[in-house]
Amino acid sequence: MTTIDSLGEFGLINKISQLVPPPRHQDTVRGIGDDAAVIGTDGDEYLLMSSDMLLEGVHFDLMYMPLQHLGFKAVAVNISDMAAMNGLPSQLTVNIGISSRFTVEAVEELYKGIAAACEAYNVDLVGGDTTASRSGLTISVTVLGKVPKERIAYRNTAQPNDVICVTGDLGAAYLGLQLLEREKQVYLSDPTMQPNLDEKAYLVQRQLRPDARTDIVHELRDLDIKPTAMIDISDGLASEILHLCTQSQTGAVIFDDTIPIDDQSYLAADEFKISPVTAALNGGEDYELLFTIRPQEFEKLKNHARITAIGYMTADPSQVVLATRAGQHTPIKAQGWKHF
Ligand code: ADP
Ligand code: MG
Repeated sequence: MTTIDSLGEFGLINKISQLVPPPRHQDTVRGIGDDAAVIGTDGDEYLLMSSDMLLEGVHFDLMYMPLQHLGFKAVAVNISDMAAMNGLPSQLTVNIGISSRFTVEAVEELYKGIAAACEAYNVDLVGGDTTASRSGLTISVTVLGKVPKERIAYRNTAQPNDVICVTGDLGAAYLGLQLLEREKQVYLSDPTMQPNLDEKAYLVQRQLRPDARTDIVHELRDLDIKPTAMIDISDGLASEILHLCTQSQTGAVIFDDTIPIDDQSYLAADEFKISPVTAALNGGEDYELLFTIRPQEFEKLKNHARITAIGYMTADPSQVVLATRAGQHTPIKAQGWKHF
């Protein structure tokens, strides 16, 4: 017998992909292995389809996760996969498994968040499924989107010398989670203690109510830049750059001092005695976009405030490294499966 742990999440998905029959339909353009499945149409656009599931006790803790935020997040993390294909969402379905300890008012709160996300990302909720759950809450969202065929961005099409870019800043969602976990322990040991997280509001918000970067999809189109490859950062920069490199058969050099990190993240990392770069590399849940562009395109976005160049792709797939200014190179490794 083989434990799931020994395979890890990506090993398990790989295994699953071998257990299912190969695509039979010509319009199945891309199946398992990217941020979304890609389905051909007779028109100028591809259809995109992606699913994500959030489980109570694994992905969220209702002690500090307000239901409205949870509803928003469940939608946003799916929309992020549309953006990762350089596409935009159009419809979604929502499946919930819910135990009898929840009230109707709780469901109302959850759907307030879901509705807010539908508005924010311009997407129609068109169905779903509702079941009783023996324990806790499960939300699974499937989203459908579209992308002009000539603008689609896969994970496996980066080339050596491409500039590696990242949107926003990294590590904050993970540090937000550490803060919330710490405050939960304080509260459990003394319920009169009220946390004051005002100075850390950004970190908490990044964990509880992440935003999907559909704005970047519009901006890249307006700047007339087509990423050569793209992925969203759900599991941390390390894991995502490794996906891009493995699938594109490239190596990469990332300069540690260029990784965008917010001031609040620096302060919190210091408090938790972890390196902010480690939080960015291995933290996850930032839902920013990681993409590559041809070097000659870099001119077009080099002054962009919310897009940072952090390195470049190389020809040697065995070398995916973090470089210090002093010239030291350390291999980038993905963390194990955090949820097991
Ligand atoms: P993301 O982090 O972008 O949501 P995942 O790491 O969850 O992507 O999934 C990677 C790929 O594996 C995707 O193409 C996804 O559709 C596929 N996948 C994940 N779980 C399963 C499963 N149980 N059965 C089939 N395909 C799966
Ligand atoms: Mg993704």
